[in-house]
Amino acid sequence: MDSLREILSRTQREGVALGHFNVADLSMLKGVLAAARELAVPVLVGASEGEREFLGTRQLALLLKSLREEVGSPVFLNADHTHSLGKAVEAAQAGFDSAVMDFSALPLEENIRKTREAVQALRAINPSFIVEGEIGDIGTGSEIHADAPGPARALSTPEEAKQFIAATGIDVLAPAVGNMHGMFARMVRGEAQKHLDVERIRQIKNATGGAFLTLHGGSGTADADLRSAIGAGINIVHINTELRLAWRRGLEAALSGHPDEVVPYRILPPAIEAVKQVALSRLRLFNGSKDG
Ligand SMILES: [Zn+2]
Repeated sequence: MDSLREILSRTQREGVALGHFNVADLSMLKGVLAAARELAVPVLVGASEGEREFLGTRQLALLLKSLREEVGSPVFLNADHTHSLGKAVEAAQAGFDSAVMDFSALPLEENIRKTREAVQALRAINPSFIVEGEIGDIGTGSEIHADAPGPARALSTPEEAKQFIAATGIDVLAPAVGNMHGMFARMVRGEAQKHLDVERIRQIKNATGGAFLTLHGGSGTADADLRSAIGAGINIVHINTELRLAWRRGLEAALSGHPDEVVPYRILPPAIEAVKQVALSRLRLFNGSKDG
């Protein structure tokens, strides 16, 4: 299997992006992998610290190791939003391919120092391990937020992006470009969508000499904005809240449709299918399909 670095280089040349989907349980993992298998495209499976705690870091790595052989296309495992070196080391030793070191809540100098330290420690464990760093404020919590006037978040600047990459040695940068984690309730109702500053993405891509860029908080973003963002240089798009919403709706429909059913493997397939459909539609879009 090609390494994640090779896949990033290849998809960058092709002008498409990798889908990154968070999983919190086996049904979500099955849905995501079914979508990747159907489209025969590479995919990133992500698990945040909370998701890893629930699934088990080593257990998820071993599960994926056995499942990825059946998918046919490359599947990588990412330790999403990791706030300590210890947790990242645990993931790297368990067999994860990459980690998002998120010290973005700290002052920039401290963020740089801790991220650089992580890059060195993780490469010592696995030289092909991919480390992502984060600057700027993109909010927390891949969940439904009460409708509120969105806080005015500062966007990452091309200068700080360039400085951060040079000072830390990261492989991938997650900038703040109008994106945010989670979805507002009005987005769930289909009354609003997120919009991105595509020009800022282009400026950051140019200033960093074509560095790999990740878009976090992709859920609820207008398709046209995602397409333009990928065209401007986004290499990885994170989708979590949309999957969680699909999982919950699929589960609710299964439970209410069969109130006396108690067999988990008869209850859960609609939740798996709902997750798969979201992943399919997002993967089609990220991989440049016209009907995406
Ligand atoms: Zn994120």
